[in-house]
Amino acid sequence: MIPKSHPRYTSLKIREKIVDGVKKGITSQHGLIAHGRGEAFDYIIGEKTTAKAKKAIEKSAKLLLKAKHPVISVNGNTAALVPREIVELSGASGAKIEVNIFHPSKKREIKIKKHLEKHGAKEVLLPQKSCRIKYLESNRKYVNKEGIYKADVVFVPLEDGDRTEALRKNGKKVIVVDLNPLSRSARKADIVIIDNVVRAVPLLIKEVRKLK
Ligand code: ATP
Ligand code: MG
Repeated sequence: MIPKSHPRYTSLKIREKIVDGVKKGITSQHGLIAHGRGEAFDYIIGEKTTAKAKKAIEKSAKLLLKAKHPVISVNGNTAALVPREIVELSGASGAKIEVNIFHPSKKREIKIKKHLEKHGAKEVLLPQKSCRIKYLESNRKYVNKEGIYKADVVFVPLEDGDRTEALRKNGKKVIVVDLNPLSRSARKADIVIIDNVVRAVPLLIKEVRKLK
């Protein structure tokens, strides 16, 4: 139990969620390291949503609502940190939810899907071996025909840069949440929200609801 009075309470609670994700088989062990990198940048920005991030969130809400086929791409870290919020964002924006992970594991894909369903998701798409996007070699090239394959806007929290680039080359608009402004994903996205997903996604839901 982390005492509420602990000066790093929020940060430690978030850490706990990621560790829990690994224990449940939702998050990969590599996800812990990616989280650590994010934490370091969050520390630097004072663990608060900046004015610039708020602007990017407003732009993202508009783009999601304007899209014909918006899709939210979910990996193991996102599923562990904000499962309910992803479902809410999907409901508010009309975006489909699709699982997409870097380290190939059918088992983990299914666990992420079930985890999201437990948090209220009605439909969670999985990648199909028969369907892929171009310009990408990793496991993330496999997508769902009804999801990312035909999407015009893809929301990809905590993304790797090469897929951001590939998605754009496949003609899609890409919204990224990444605490590291230097990462390729942050530099290559159409819109980048430099913020923690645990803060950015709830704000994005609010903004989408307001605009609707
Ligand atoms: P690339 O340059 O290819 O984009 P990368 O540095 O982003 O590489 P990844 O393995 O994609 O490498 O790392 C995950 C990214 O996610 C890191 O940049 C990290 O800052 C970010 N990140 C981790 N946890 C969070 C979080 N909770 N909220 C927002 N961003 C996060
Ligand atoms: Mg990245």
